[in-house]
Amino acid sequence: MGLGARDKCAVFGVFAPGRDVSRITYYALFALQHRGQESSGIAVSTDRHVMLYKDMGLVQQVFSEDLLAMMRGDAAIGHNRYSTTGRSTRVNAQPVVIQDTENPARSFAIAHNGNLVNTWELAGDLANLGASQETTSDTETFGLLVQSFISEMSFDDALRETVKRARGAYSLVILTTDALYAVRDPDGIRPLALGSFEGGYVVASESAAFPLVGGELVRDVEPGEIIRIDRSGLHSERFAESRIHTCMFEFFYFCRPDALLRGKEVYSMRVEMGRQLARESGVEADIVIPVPDSGLPAGIGYADESGLPYHEALIKNRYVGRTFIEPLQAQRVIGVRMKLNPLHEVIQGKRLVLVDDSIVRGNTSRQMVKMLRKAGAREVHMRLSSPPIKFPCYYGIDFGTYEELIAAGRSVEEINEVIGADTLEYLSLEGVVKATGFPFDEFCLACFNNERPIPISEQMKVGKFILEEEKP
Ligand code: SF4
Repeated sequence: MGLGARDKCAVFGVFAPGRDVSRITYYALFALQHRGQESSGIAVSTDRHVMLYKDMGLVQQVFSEDLLAMMRGDAAIGHNRYSTTGRSTRVNAQPVVIQDTENPARSFAIAHNGNLVNTWELAGDLANLGASQETTSDTETFGLLVQSFISEMSFDDALRETVKRARGAYSLVILTTDALYAVRDPDGIRPLALGSFEGGYVVASESAAFPLVGGELVRDVEPGEIIRIDRSGLHSERFAESRIHTCMFEFFYFCRPDALLRGKEVYSMRVEMGRQLARESGVEADIVIPVPDSGLPAGIGYADESGLPYHEALIKNRYVGRTFIEPLQAQRVIGVRMKLNPLHEVIQGKRLVLVDDSIVRGNTSRQMVKMLRKAGAREVHMRLSSPPIKFPCYYGIDFGTYEELIAAGRSVEEINEVIGADTLEYLSLEGVVKATGFPFDEFCLACFNNERPIPISEQMKVGKFILEEEKP
């Protein structure tokens, strides 16, 4: 149970009667494409029913003009999904619609970014309530639990009952026939932003989705908050005290640089990470080269602080996705060659500082170092604007298992033996936190230090390994 939902995803919601809500959702999902490229879906509601369309592929591949024109309603939610290996099927695409066949007006749709860590318990609650589940999705478990409570109480109370039981990372958008809900777990692991625009409200994984649909950031959805948006306006309530532990990965890698996280532009924090990196691990070199795109701001910061010239000497094919987001190992390897090409004249005979944001599996870095040496680099000094990723993530990011993490159980020297650079240095844990300007205890840093803000059951840990064994 619950093993099919280990994703980094994008969610979006809009409540705007009279507006073209499906097209607004389409544009927002387009702006959030970097958070998931395997499948895309939109659900639209009227006061009578909820309709859904989802399929494998990029937003532009899934939705046509005709489809969007058919999907008329007062509100909509959307989802881009990145799924784990072997789970890349249409059935796991979101949003998930929980149908009420007797009364379609009580159907609702749900889209989720994150991963619940007690799906087994929730499934037990569900069985006790006499309901059954067909898929392995934790999102569906959550939705079915809400549904099983609805017979006894209002939708709002059913949602309250469910969040009381759920543990883990969840930034949710939920669409009923009369309202849009935004829900964020008490630890605020994944981001969720609230925006306003003419005629309604929008909610998105990242505020960077708002400008494209004419929206403006109002604020973050608070950890432990439920927001209900309906024809009477916006209603907020707290279901738990906030004990914020935002995922550090969102700060140095996942979010678009133009997103605001906790009110601060991600770009500036990444430049500061690069500066801090130069202060911590300077090296004699000729030029600084960033790995595009996610290493660009840190590269700029490193060059600024070190006084070395900055060159964009790795040219990216803009039409290839992030290698980390492509699930199959073979695709990842080909992906690097398809994606980057070095500028020989810039690199020839130079001592390079190669700045990237992180190393997960190490394939990309090894190939880049090789590529730069082949292009004539005299020395390659690799610098990372995050600490070594040593432990798996249970809160919604696909690092799979220890075996997949190059830094798990290896010293920096041992990692560099695999990468093949002249020197390799990481930003310290204190350094990456300091660069954000937020307190140390307000982050999830579990994949670096194994201190988990939300306890993980043994079943959950075992589940990781079952999932790995299922890989083709
Ligand atoms: S374990 Fe790492 S990737 Fe997962 S939520 Fe925490 S910081 Fe983010």
